Amino acid sequence: MNRVGIGYDVHRLKEGRPLILGGVNIPHDTGLDGHSDADVLMHAICDAVLGALGEGDIGSFFPPSDPQWKNAPSKIFLEEAARQIESRGGRLINVDAMLIAEAPKIAPHVDAMKANIAAALDVPATTIGIKATTNETMGFVGRGEGMAAHAVASVELPD
Ligand code: MG
Repeated sequence: MNRVGIGYDVHRLKEGRPLILGGVNIPHDTGLDGHSDADVLMHAICDAVLGALGEGDIGSFFPPSDPQWKNAPSKIFLEEAARQIESRGGRLINVDAMLIAEAPKIAPHVDAMKANIAAALDVPATTIGIKATTNETMGFVGRGEGMAAHAVASVELPD
């Protein structure tokens, strides 16, 4: 049985925060704000995987009200999503994700992001697709106020 899930996330950009995308710390004048490391890309992917399993979102596993997740590296969320697949005897077929950010340039970091995400999900890097676009200067992304990410995941589960 093949299942698909969708994930979406957005975080605000703020001065004085590191910019961490796909587990890569990228030099930039602002970083994403949030309770964890605010890795918007990993969060969207996590929700896509959990969605494919019919589970609740990332917040139902890691409540933002819980202080132990403060500044937590988001790979732990993906590791939990991988455990959820494994506990069902399933297999992650693929993930495809789209990051929407006006700056900085994402392309030089995509291979490192894929490697980090694949490691957290315990799959080959070829399982993970990452693309990025700007918002053509429009809206909150275009003004550099935040970043957004969309993701889909396909999971094979036993019948
Ligand atoms: Mg988030």
